[in-house]
Amino acid sequence: MLTCKEFIEDFLADYLDAGLSPEVVADLERHLANCPPCLTYLNTYKRTRELVSRTAAEMPPEMKAILRKFLLEQLAKDKT
Ligand SMILES: [Zn+2]
Repeated sequence: MLTCKEFIEDFLADYLDAGLSPEVVADLERHLANCPPCLTYLNTYKRTRELVSRTAAEMPPEMKAILRKFLLEQLAKDKT
């Protein structure tokens, strides 16, 4: 089973770039359907990317790091 960390760190960017095989996409979508924090993260990430692409710039690595840190903190909170 896919973990949140794998989703965020390994698959998210490829998922949005449509660079994954259909089996992996199906796995990710199953995960998202059962994992509101990852879904929120995905939507935030997507929106940020759209905003950034409108300015014809790359999303700054700092922004990605902040988003990832935020979500991992949320997930850590849920576990306690
Ligand atoms: Zn998740």
